[in-house]
Amino acid sequence: MMDPTKKELLLEVNDLCMHYSVQGGFFDKSKGLVKAVDGVSFKLYKGSAFGLVGESGCGKTTTGRLIMKVMKPTSGSITFYDNKLGPIELVPISNKKMRPLRKKIQMVFQDPYSSLDPRMTIQQIVGEPLRAGGRGELHEYKNKIADILQKSGLSPDYMDRYPHAFSGGQRQRIGIARALVTQPQLVIADEPVSALDVSVQAQILNLLKELQQVFDLTYLFIAHDLSVIRYMCDTLAVMYVGRIVEIGRSEDIFHHPAHPYTEGLLSIIPRTNTRTKPGKMLKGAIADASNLPSGCYFHPRCPHAQDICKNEYPPLRDLGNEHQTACHFDLKLKGI
Ligand code: SF4
Repeated sequence: MMDPTKKELLLEVNDLCMHYSVQGGFFDKSKGLVKAVDGVSFKLYKGSAFGLVGESGCGKTTTGRLIMKVMKPTSGSITFYDNKLGPIELVPISNKKMRPLRKKIQMVFQDPYSSLDPRMTIQQIVGEPLRAGGRGELHEYKNKIADILQKSGLSPDYMDRYPHAFSGGQRQRIGIARALVTQPQLVIADEPVSALDVSVQAQILNLLKELQQVFDLTYLFIAHDLSVIRYMCDTLAVMYVGRIVEIGRSEDIFHHPAHPYTEGLLSIIPRTNTRTKPGKMLKGAIADASNLPSGCYFHPRCPHAQDICKNEYPPLRDLGNEHQTACHFDLKLKGI
């Protein structure tokens, strides 16, 4: 875990938006605007692990992909504080200028089966980011690849094998080795254990924790499962239909959730489920981003909703201790 007295910024996301129109109907007319990410802001400090959590469709994966520059945001800024070059604004820079930065910002993907090219050997897969700058031959990097495979819990003897020879857990270790071979400053891990057997999930999470210490990594952890975020992250943001509805230190949010949606997510963690009162359970499905409810987007599912909730979207409010929430009745709910 990061030393809170030595906070040094690594990434700052400010008012990030990703909006797109959806087509449909006989004349393929625009049916409306989907706000996949809508005004998201957060900061990542060096050596920390920050979690983005929410149900499928909440915008957390899109946020990660915007940071990776897989897609261009509608508006907002993403500032990366490079340890040599200083602050770099990622949104306007070209793909060419982004290329050297890709070694510093890497990603671990959700599905270890589809994310590894079956026609490539492990050496080629793990060595790929080293060659992303267009220079150097694979054999020059053999020692680096062997070293990172070993640190990821795989024998370097496996280098000439193909992905099909490995289990899901081993494949995810290969994906992790590929992400870390360039010694990045930031790793975005998008649901890195959700496709794995429960029996190997803990092993992969422990490996990621261990490697964070070894390489002094900063993680942006994306997951739908709050228990994974609790285990991995010192701070977290809860997203609902494109917006952050609660943000703060993990322990604070786990002990005193201020937003009913967070409370609902906590209710579906098996260990805490027994302590959750029936009224606090998460009901219904996430709102349709192309047809949003009025007021607070969560009001059709919220057991605490009142009239104001149907008319006014609550802004993020400060609760102190770096804890913020977007709920009209957050203070009443806190600690219940
Ligand atoms: Fe529930 Fe109202 Fe808070 Fe929205 S603003 S989460 S509907 S209590």
